[in-house]
Amino acid sequence: MSLRTKYSDRTFNGPKTSRPKCGARTISGRPCQAQALKPSGRCFRHGGLSTGPRTPEGKARQRQAAKETMRRIWQERRRGERPMPNISDEKRAEMAARARQRQSALQAARDEHLRELRWKKWRADMQEKRREESLARKEAARIRHAERMRRYREKQKKQRANSNA
Ligand SMILES: [Zn+2]
Repeated sequence: MSLRTKYSDRTFNGPKTSRPKCGARTISGRPCQAQALKPSGRCFRHGGLSTGPRTPEGKARQRQAAKETMRRIWQERRRGERPMPNISDEKRAEMAARARQRQSALQAARDEHLRELRWKKWRADMQEKRREESLARKEAARIRHAERMRRYREKQKKQRANSNA
């Protein structure tokens, strides 16, 4: 298929004068007046026949760029720097509901995470406390035992002194 047939296949229908123009910026600075091609809205000189990214990396790059563009556009809309799209009240309510749902899911995840952190801290504190109590009990038992042994030896010494006298 020649470029010529490809080009004519993709042109818009209708009278020539009302067909869409390419509009790309030309060297002179004025918008290109050539007729636009159907899929791209540009003429064949300005990327109108481009098939876009073909490799997986190229497609991923394109996806990422589109995502970032939409995020920026919605930020500007929310800030009032760009008009909101002309969407029906139902659609708008649906989008608001979805946004609320996302927010509450995020909040729930945050709460869950905090609960887990608090629980881990409490458990670590309890283990530390038990360890300290156990050490204190052992130390007290050691002291009691030493005291008993000291008294026992004193008593034996006295008994030996009495039997010798
Ligand atoms: Zn053009």
